[in-house]
Amino acid sequence: LIYCGDYHTHTNYSHGKGTVEANVKRAAELGLKEIAITDHGYRHTAFHVRRTDYKYMRRDALAAAQKYPAVKIYLGLETNLQGSDGLIDVNEGDLEDLEILLCGFHKMVQSPSVKEFFSFYVPNFFPTTDRTKLRNTKAYVNAIEKNPIDIITHLKYSIDVDVTEVAKAAHEFGTFIELNGKCVHMSDGEVAKILESGAGLIVNSDAHSPEKVGSFSVPQTVIDRLGIPPERIVNFNGTPDFRLKKWKENKNF
Ligand SMILES: [Zn+2]
Ligand SMILES: [Zn+2]
Repeated sequence: LIYCGDYHTHTNYSHGKGTVEANVKRAAELGLKEIAITDHGYRHTAFHVRRTDYKYMRRDALAAAQKYPAVKIYLGLETNLQGSDGLIDVNEGDLEDLEILLCGFHKMVQSPSVKEFFSFYVPNFFPTTDRTKLRNTKAYVNAIEKNPIDIITHLKYSIDVDVTEVAKAAHEFGTFIELNGKCVHMSDGEVAKILESGAGLIVNSDAHSPEKVGSFSVPQTVIDRLGIPPERIVNFNGTPDFRLKKWKENKNF
């Protein structure tokens, strides 16, 4: 059993408790080959990185890389899904600073407009109707189509979607779907639908403190229970090829 990387971890630049270096140190202790620092996107109301933080995060990542040369560090972001047209809180210019792009739905996010606030956010605070579910699904599918998202985080956490449709889009565009280290919010049937779609799954800790980096026991129970073939987990026995990297190469970014 060898996981090669943890691609969803937070630091004290947003909601996490530890430093960039502490997360990298933990990854080194566990023998992980790669780690991503993916703090919360800009429009998260309570905990978000600022665009001006990136130079400090870069500095910290370089220092950590010198101390722990065996671990490759990706500096990234867990961006917020913001609307049914697939808007996320990252613009093309921001991608220059990023080496990996995650996207998740979070409730405490500043809406981009009054319209999205009432049509996209508010309905998700109530029991989901078919209409809301359809709109949520469209938001994910559009986000995947329009942005070079590497990983969809904690799918179905505080938002209801048609997992099959999201998985189809993920497969088509090369976005991976996360089995989150804290909780897998999808049913076994929904995870099976992802497997059917051909989309890649990725196991991440979503660590908010250094000691949680590489904590994969929760998703592992799902993997064992469903007998998910190891080759469907993109960070198992190898390191994944990420979409953003290829997108940047094509753009000569
Ligand atoms: Zn999240
Ligand atoms: Zn997170």
